[in-house]
Amino acid sequence: MRLFLALILCKLIRLALRLLGRGGTALPGKAALKICPDMLGKLSKGVATVLITGTNGKTTTARMTEQMIRDAGYSYFANRSGSNLERGIAAEFAANSTIFGRPKRTYAIIECDEAAFRTVAGKVAPRVIVVTNIFRDQLDRFGEVTRTLESIREGVKKAPEAVLCLNADCSLTASLAEGVPNTLRLFGMDVPLEESAGVSDAPRCIRCGAEYAYSFRTFAHLGGFFCPDCGYARQRPAVSITAVRAFLPEGSEADFMIDGAAYPAYVGLPAAYNLYNAAAALAAATALGVPAQKAAGSLADTRDVFGRMESFEINGVPIRMILVKNPAGCDRALDYLAGMIQGEYLAVFCLNDNVADGTDVSWIWDSGFERLFSGGTEPGLIVSGTRAEDMRLRLKYAGAREDAVRIIQGDGALIAAAAAGGVPVYILPTYTAMLSIRSELTRLCGGRKFWE
Ligand SMILES: [Zn+2]
Repeated sequence: MRLFLALILCKLIRLALRLLGRGGTALPGKAALKICPDMLGKLSKGVATVLITGTNGKTTTARMTEQMIRDAGYSYFANRSGSNLERGIAAEFAANSTIFGRPKRTYAIIECDEAAFRTVAGKVAPRVIVVTNIFRDQLDRFGEVTRTLESIREGVKKAPEAVLCLNADCSLTASLAEGVPNTLRLFGMDVPLEESAGVSDAPRCIRCGAEYAYSFRTFAHLGGFFCPDCGYARQRPAVSITAVRAFLPEGSEADFMIDGAAYPAYVGLPAAYNLYNAAAALAAATALGVPAQKAAGSLADTRDVFGRMESFEINGVPIRMILVKNPAGCDRALDYLAGMIQGEYLAVFCLNDNVADGTDVSWIWDSGFERLFSGGTEPGLIVSGTRAEDMRLRLKYAGAREDAVRIIQGDGALIAAAAAGGVPVYILPTYTAMLSIRSELTRLCGGRKFWE
């Protein structure tokens, strides 16, 4: 009865919000969970759920996995709106259940916040768990990386039936396989990358504290790690990238190895970190039974992912949006700009310090903005957001000329100024800045609302 009431309430609030033109996804769930606290546990019964968590790449991995199972003809739903806490996830399950609580679809692709994972994993009994990676993120919210790791570990222990798809190259993530009975399906990169290594969030062995050695590195603390003292080491992944044939501005060509067979594929999102997301998605989709060949073929079709390398066009000027929220992710975006963009371009940094961005913006000092000024074409520079001055100062220390950095506030003015330059624009916003700029861009482009 409680579930029935909660479902009716959930569906009504959702309908009302849509009639008002809002995509609110957390509110209905929040109200319904008050009436029926175990709504998520009840509604997820009979749904084969893929639960995706980790610091970076959750959304992109979810979209790629979705593409694969859609192409394979599976009946599924996903929490595409970005509400990845329990209430948002519960609301998504409610929207995809009948009024009597029976599932309307067979599969669910669910992105889950790292801190919420502990609770959510125990309730949905996931068929597959994907952990993309663990980096330092929003210090004021999560504390140290080990706390994030332990929170995820707690969730994994509640889901012994799930196939565990873990990043083999991340010493933190890979340790989640220890002491649990789950079937393991590792993914990773078998070849080094020529990225600037940047800051390592995990220089020391998680078992014994000795410094890791590496047979090869990809970026940050990822790569062929091994501990010379206790023997903790990277294990061979079931799904891996065995060669990168080309990094292109719009995508990458790479060779994947899936359970011992080779599959060359084109990944429709650029930059090296999206190869990791592709491998993670391949591990998940093939764990659900999608044929490897078919899954690899779907990688070409994931192009626009909400705020992650998403592209727009204003008056013929291409605009790409790359969400940045922590040093590791920001370094990857900067590597992409410095390494991949030929000719003139404009870089726009939008730094907000709202709760959803992380109120501590000191992480920008751990990101290597210097790489933008270390040769080649220097970009035009605009900064914006509540902490625009901090951002300007950071760019100045990185090597920008003082008068080269413009501060422009307001999304409309910002987009107009950016597009006026006539050169390709790359916007690197924090989370709340991404939401508001994206909404303005979508309006200007006449695009879809995010919850559709
Ligand atoms: Zn060790």
